[in-house]
Amino acid sequence: MEFNDNESSSNVEDRRGVGGLAVGGLGIGGIVILIVGYFLGVDPSTLLNVAQQASAPPEVRDAPVGAPQDEMGHFVGQVLRSTERVWTGIFQQAGGTYRNPRLVLYEQSTPSACGMGRAAMGPFYCPLDEKVYLDLSFFRDLRTRFNAPGNFPEAYVIAHEVGHHVQKLDGTFDKMQQMQGRVSKTEYNQSSVRLELQADCFAGVWAHHASESMARISDADIEQGLNAASAIGDDRLQRQSQGYVVPESFTHGSSAQRVRWFKRGIQSGSVNDCNTFGAGSL
Ligand SMILES: [Zn+2]
Repeated sequence: MEFNDNESSSNVEDRRGVGGLAVGGLGIGGIVILIVGYFLGVDPSTLLNVAQQASAPPEVRDAPVGAPQDEMGHFVGQVLRSTERVWTGIFQQAGGTYRNPRLVLYEQSTPSACGMGRAAMGPFYCPLDEKVYLDLSFFRDLRTRFNAPGNFPEAYVIAHEVGHHVQKLDGTFDKMQQMQGRVSKTEYNQSSVRLELQADCFAGVWAHHASESMARISDADIEQGLNAASAIGDDRLQRQSQGYVVPESFTHGSSAQRVRWFKRGIQSGSVNDCNTFGAGSL
């Protein structure tokens, strides 16, 4: 994909080179926080276990906020800016106000209000501090190991995480939080799948509007995004399972379902067509 202009978001928090140790205060623990992983289906409950350990938002000092100048950082800023424009418009049309999330670039590990972020988790969104966390080694994996040289898969990952931010703003996260402990594990997992598929659909909505006025996105780009997604899914999960436990009971949306909801968002460009929670079949 190629952007029509050079506009970049000023909401990128660049922690690269800052290190994960510059922590102001550690959380006191005990609060269960839902955070969500990247679009290939990192098990949310895995992240949730990680998140149980911290609750107070730690501070990372000396991380510049603005628009990174290096090539990859700049592209991330451009994608984020396009999501800001798209979602601001959609919220305005619905009579609401969109609040921009921040995107944190980091290396290896960094504290978040939802616990310690680690590169092995893949990109994730923390609803407590409303930040998307991204370790760029994930993008290097996409490019080098999985032969996905195009940049659209990267943009899609960011748009998916921003989709989770939209779910925070529209109250979906609160509903998920309330379900915890009140419904069966199976039921909760099914809702997690719907949460993920809706974020895929929201990423499609973004792509729909971005391609109208902000960027050129070809069919090949979209195919590449979906192919790359399938290619790295298993690998990431395998790596994940070596690091810590992935509960057997969890079911992710299938590749076909993810493709379906993403395409649906792209085709319609309307959030009304992203009601995965009301859909009889996914
Ligand atoms: Zn997700």
